[in-house]
Amino acid sequence: ASEEWELDMEDLTLGAELGSGQFGLVLEGLWRGEKVAVKTIREGAMSEEEFKEEANVMMKVSHPKLVKLYGMCTQQSPMYLVFEFLENGCLTEFLRSRKGCVSQEILLGMCVDVSEAMAYLESSNFIHRDLAARNCLVSGNLVVKVSDFGMTRFVLDDQYTSYTSKFPVKWSSPEVIRYNKFSSKSDVWSFGVLMWEVYSEGRLPYECRSNAEVVESLNAGLRLLRPRLCPEPVYQLMQWCWKEKPEDRPSFVLLLHELASLAES
Ligand code: ADP
Repeated sequence: ASEEWELDMEDLTLGAELGSGQFGLVLEGLWRGEKVAVKTIREGAMSEEEFKEEANVMMKVSHPKLVKLYGMCTQQSPMYLVFEFLENGCLTEFLRSRKGCVSQEILLGMCVDVSEAMAYLESSNFIHRDLAARNCLVSGNLVVKVSDFGMTRFVLDDQYTSYTSKFPVKWSSPEVIRYNKFSSKSDVWSFGVLMWEVYSEGRLPYECRSNAEVVESLNAGLRLLRPRLCPEPVYQLMQWCWKEKPEDRPSFVLLLHELASLAES
């Protein structure tokens, strides 16, 4: 019996390549007249059985600021994941390509959008585990949506999961680096780095430093510096996200409240 999330291949038309991701090529597509992004899952890239078990949960987390998963086609190889399409693509690339052109209002609005998505995930007890600007997408009218939530759990590439070259150390909290302890509070740390990326217009955090050097400076209590475009009250929120102890960091619901009131003033 096929699951409720199984989509009929007949309803799907594949188009041009959008990019290449952790699991394989990402293609543009059309599903029942709607533009979609189709992630093709390269053989051996994903623990597919575990993913299918989790698929029901993934389909149920639904929020206007989360990139929607419509379903998947698992009857053929490679398997496809079908997502809502966002015209302006990856947030990092968007910021880099429009350096100097994105207003303060929009930059703050992007942080508000992400905090809304994350407050929803927090209230659903769903941990993202890989929050970063590269995992956010920008819609045609500049709404930012969070993508790839929880997906690192299904990555088979051990370079990604074992603290070597691909592990996102620069976005990870001390307890994740030391003990692999993920929580909504470790997502909050990553969110602080994401806000830094937004106000740095897509620069790589700790640009010239290796992962080992980053760990060393974090241990010494050092943190990312205030980006030139970042207002002091926003930088204070970032620093709050980077408190050593998870319990000293704010929740997403509080961050959303603080950011939204900055946006109103
Ligand atoms: P992964 O997270 O699996 O490594 P990505 O999500 O980064 O892969 O996808 C690779 C590229 O494909 C992105 O940088 C983006 O340009 C494009 N892309 C992915 N998902 C979408 C989408 N829903 N809408 C539009 N473009 C997308």
